[in-house]
Amino acid sequence: MSKNTTYPGINAGRLWQRHLDMAKIGATAGGGVHRMALTNEDIEAHVLLVKWAEAHGFTTDLDAIGNMFIRRDGIDPSLPPVSSGSHTDTQPNGGRFDGITGVLAAFEALETIEEAGIKTRHPLETIIWNNEEGPRFTPSCMGSAVYSGDRKLDEMLTRQDSEGITMGTCVDELRKALPQAGSRELGAPIASFLEVHIEQGTRLESSGNIIGAVTGMQGYRRFEIQVTGEDSHSGTTPRSRRKDAFVAATDMTHALRDILWDDEDEMRYTIGRFEVRPGGVSVVPGQVNFYIDLRYHNKKTLDELGERIPQICKAHAGPCEMKILDALKVDPMEFPEEVISGIEAAADWHGFGHERMYSYAGHDARFAARLCPAGMIFIPCWKGISHNEAESAEPEHIAAAAQIITDMLIDQAI
Ligand SMILES: [Zn+2]
Repeated sequence: MSKNTTYPGINAGRLWQRHLDMAKIGATAGGGVHRMALTNEDIEAHVLLVKWAEAHGFTTDLDAIGNMFIRRDGIDPSLPPVSSGSHTDTQPNGGRFDGITGVLAAFEALETIEEAGIKTRHPLETIIWNNEEGPRFTPSCMGSAVYSGDRKLDEMLTRQDSEGITMGTCVDELRKALPQAGSRELGAPIASFLEVHIEQGTRLESSGNIIGAVTGMQGYRRFEIQVTGEDSHSGTTPRSRRKDAFVAATDMTHALRDILWDDEDEMRYTIGRFEVRPGGVSVVPGQVNFYIDLRYHNKKTLDELGERIPQICKAHAGPCEMKILDALKVDPMEFPEEVISGIEAAADWHGFGHERMYSYAGHDARFAARLCPAGMIFIPCWKGISHNEAESAEPEHIAAAAQIITDMLIDQAI
């Protein structure tokens, strides 16, 4: 990386004000944000960004899965974009920084470079990946995974939320809200991608560093398990005749907990959704659907455990049937060394304390990394609290990260 002494300084006040403006869209009484993927609120956030973009003459494209690309043209239109971004959607009653900070830092970089009048060979883009969080439509990282070819477009467009609304309908709504947007082909080349994100942990807070140069991400396995027994009367059905899907499912989850217990406390085993049907107080439940989320950094161990999960579930099904409705396998990954050291060099240049760190959470940069050299920059997040209304980050840390990507985008695009 050749550091250029003329990097323009970002506008930290504007960047913070944009956070405050965005936090109003889906604001909760508890000081957080409830803005699930492609709800009216999320679409409003997209429209506001485009309004800001148009004030600079930037253009907007949408792709078939609802990813949005805000573009500042380069000198050579044949070159792929140098890009940065994240997501605008949140968890239910989520925070004001997860995702949106990466979008606004990327957009601030575009504005800063535009205002400085710097001509770049490559176009510059801010990317808003659709449905990163996943609580409304599974799976998470849907937009980036479809773009990278890891998920199938047709299948993802038919995914439904709890009210039966499909992702396809929502993408149409987004397009209607932005009739001026052009269209982008899925998988179209990207020269590079950077994502700024709150750490969602406490390592930076503990060390006092303000920049995390992310080296890689955990792998994970996800399973949607369906356990089918038989609905029956809770008063008249003796234990010997019950096919109680709840009992079978909880036996499975307990057995898994024993197997997935590690002394180092590095294994992440979670059952985040567990649905009991039909849900009558006096009915032995005939069906349970639940989701297993297992994360770990070592591929070999993760592969072995991933193979065992269906076997363990089957072994504990009792009189019920067990079926795997959906399974997802994502290997641990590493970002390219030149991107990691580029982040370090930019942080050094500005005197920002930094350290290398691993990401325990999944992010869109994982899928972008399939297409181009990609990297991530973490900033501290108060007490590590995230996916929570209390989520908080400091304006000067956000500004530091935005400055780093401004420098890096210039270096990569010029
Ligand atoms: Zn996020």
